[in-house]
Amino acid sequence: MKRHVILAMAVVLVCVSAVVAQQPAPEKTDTAAVEKIKAEGLNNSHVMEILSFLADQYGPRLTWSPEYRRAAEWASGKLKEWGLQNIYFDGWAPLGKGWTLKNFNAIMTAPVTQPLIAYPKAWAPSFRQREAEVVFLDVKRLEDFDKYKGKLKGKYVLINDLVNVQAHFSPEANRLADSTLLKMSNADMPGGSGRGGRRGPMLPRNLTLQNWDSVWTAIKTMQPNLDSATVMRFLIDREVTSKKLRFVQEEGALCAINAGRGDGGTIFVQQSTVPQPADVPFNQRKNAYDADAPTIIPQVVMAAEHYNRLIRLIQKGVTPKVELGLEVAFTKADSGFNVIGEIQGTDLKDEVVMMGGHFDSWHAGTGATDDGTGSAAAMEAMRILQTVFKQYGIQPRRTIRIGLWGGEEQGLHGSRGYVSNHLAKTDADPLSMMMGAGSGGNLKTTPEYEKFSVYFNHDNGSGRLRGVHMQGNEAARPIFRNWLTGFNDPTAQTLTLNNTGGTDHLSFDGVGLPGFQFIQDQLEYDTRTHHSNMDVYDRVQVEDMKQAATLMAVFAYNAAQRDAKFPRKPVAAPRGPGGAATGGVAR
Ligand SMILES: [Zn+2]
Repeated sequence: MKRHVILAMAVVLVCVSAVVAQQPAPEKTDTAAVEKIKAEGLNNSHVMEILSFLADQYGPRLTWSPEYRRAAEWASGKLKEWGLQNIYFDGWAPLGKGWTLKNFNAIMTAPVTQPLIAYPKAWAPSFRQREAEVVFLDVKRLEDFDKYKGKLKGKYVLINDLVNVQAHFSPEANRLADSTLLKMSNADMPGGSGRGGRRGPMLPRNLTLQNWDSVWTAIKTMQPNLDSATVMRFLIDREVTSKKLRFVQEEGALCAINAGRGDGGTIFVQQSTVPQPADVPFNQRKNAYDADAPTIIPQVVMAAEHYNRLIRLIQKGVTPKVELGLEVAFTKADSGFNVIGEIQGTDLKDEVVMMGGHFDSWHAGTGATDDGTGSAAAMEAMRILQTVFKQYGIQPRRTIRIGLWGGEEQGLHGSRGYVSNHLAKTDADPLSMMMGAGSGGNLKTTPEYEKFSVYFNHDNGSGRLRGVHMQGNEAARPIFRNWLTGFNDPTAQTLTLNNTGGTDHLSFDGVGLPGFQFIQDQLEYDTRTHHSNMDVYDRVQVEDMKQAATLMAVFAYNAAQRDAKFPRKPVAAPRGPGGAATGGVAR
């Protein structure tokens, strides 16, 4: 056989083996153990019982509040009961004041008496119950404020316009359609960050009406497609909106009332705003829970239908009266804390696999779907694993750790604090990190950073898990594909390269560690429960929860048992403060 043919075949052989050598070893999982985990999770589930304690008995769990601490004490007691180790409250900064609702009343007293559906915003101060006239602050332009000067003292003031209430022709709850899942599967490298979207044109935060002349030309050069009229309108609206609260406070109004998102008695309500100019940079803005927060005007959110009626009465020349009263208790500003616990590993025990969700919630409901479902699913996953390990004498190789984060609603404080205190400090801009702009800061890592494998997050409501957002980590695909195939649930098969944002996996992803949020069916998360007074146990779907907790347990187990740690994304060029790219990587 001709020498060059043998040579060519040898070359081909070498190339093929080189390619094969580069292929990651096929993922192997312990299918028998996975079946045992599935049996425990799907046939002997405790997840709804756990959720009922977190929501019905201990909800809501507003960060820094005594209720949060009581719920955390219960949760850590359960982890202890299940035999987890190293259970502790993991402290983090910043400091914040606790806030507890003691009493609230809202009733219309003229022209007729009728109860009002309304909620105080979190951290609103107490005010004495009293009846007073209602005024509508009908302001569209800055010059409109003058006509209300001296007219608001001792009054209840409606500060936003009539709400457009529509009939619900489309179902409130939905599951991801196959077509949507297919589109997600075909997504290229990360695009939109999904949750945490921005409202209004993409503008540098320092552009204001005041510095328009000096700044606009430069911006227009950088973003020629920006239309000055749109931008000006946006700035005026922003200025008018921020001035409204300052104005009614300065004019001595009793309380600022606005209509929340939602209708049909569902109100979406979050924290009180500290009146301050719109152009105060994000990281200098005062929060109502800050230790040194100024005294602010009480703020209340009212059901759209009740709110609109008051405006229509005023537009008819009738002066309605309402009686409101609020009693709250503040606790001294203190650091926040996460609840941490673990199942210790064996031969790879200094390496860590984590899963979790945020433990804090807003205050109008019981924090059932945000994020009681994530906390309950993660706790249940730990219970399932511990039960199966004990029953069948199985031992995890890596340590499996649960993180129940505080302060998520105030800016991922708990998970960012954990990562910063234990794994890596970054100088990346926190806002761009929370917007899902990935890693990029200069990192100062700890030895634990090298030993960290992967983090799984659950924080999109009660919906079943349909797959995983891979945050641009292509190396995750064959692993997750194998695990989902092994889990054998036809509804949980989607892998998308896309990012998703707005929650705690970003704290890990933001420092270059594998951190993932599952793809979940929306159900009625956006339409009904997310940050609303209807964020309650009855809106949670039982079978979805069982599936989610069990899949989380299987993922954590598979990650704990694999030979190698979970692959990390190639390191992005570090970006300094403000998100701009800078030089080499500091590890
Ligand atoms: Zn959440």
